[in-house]
Amino acid sequence: MARPTVAEQLAAYGRELEAQGAAQVGDSFSGDPEADRLLRTDPNAFLIGLLFTQGIPAERAWAGPYLLGRRLGGFDVHVLAEQPRAVREAVQRPPMLHRFKETLPKWITSAARRILEEWDGDASAIWAPGTHVVEVTERLSQFDGIGRKKAVMGAELLSRVFGAELIGRECGTVAYDVQVRRVFLRSGLVDVDTPQAMEAAAARACPDAPGTLDLAAWLIGRETCRPKAPRCDECRLGDVCPRLIDRQVSGVGVRRQA
Ligand code: SF4
Repeated sequence: MARPTVAEQLAAYGRELEAQGAAQVGDSFSGDPEADRLLRTDPNAFLIGLLFTQGIPAERAWAGPYLLGRRLGGFDVHVLAEQPRAVREAVQRPPMLHRFKETLPKWITSAARRILEEWDGDASAIWAPGTHVVEVTERLSQFDGIGRKKAVMGAELLSRVFGAELIGRECGTVAYDVQVRRVFLRSGLVDVDTPQAMEAAAARACPDAPGTLDLAAWLIGRETCRPKAPRCDECRLGDVCPRLIDRQVSGVGVRRQA
């Protein structure tokens, strides 16, 4: 039997993760069952959680809505919209919930107001059944603090983990994330470090659902394809990857910037 290509191996890993219902690390987003439960049961918490996914580790980011709710006496989109000073104080109280202590509270209040004004208080209307992936990505991008990268990730998570019945998964893609970029570069899926090259490579590698590659590549980047000491022999792509380990992404970031 012919040896699989990098693209085939990565796509297979992505499908495996999807079948497992993988969130980000195992079946958890935050490592805290209560925080995960809020994300999975309250669409507004998921959307606010997206705002946190920048500049801090993913687990800490996804715990943000739950911890914010605890500091405010409950997670309530009306409180987030109508009490900006309380939101700011809750984010900034030591230990701070996020290092973007000035911008994140503004994003949260702005997002809550948009949810109330444009989506009748329920963010799940943004990804109602039958909505196209591209439309969901566009709608998410309209929130302050959600750029294309977070929007792409959000749409992918909604389809893959949260059971949103979106159409057009063939139009989904991977986030331009530092971990994903490193894996795409070193495995030879791309030769240049641009969002366009990555999106094209993802579409070629997994035409029916390119976004499937997102979590697979991110986990490989985080766990084995480390910037300075990649552990190729432990890697899911180890048997097929050309191991172009001299390739580095420019700039440094933590998972999921806007
Ligand atoms: S860890 Fe090694 S085998 Fe895995 S993607 Fe990176 S360079 Fe390739």
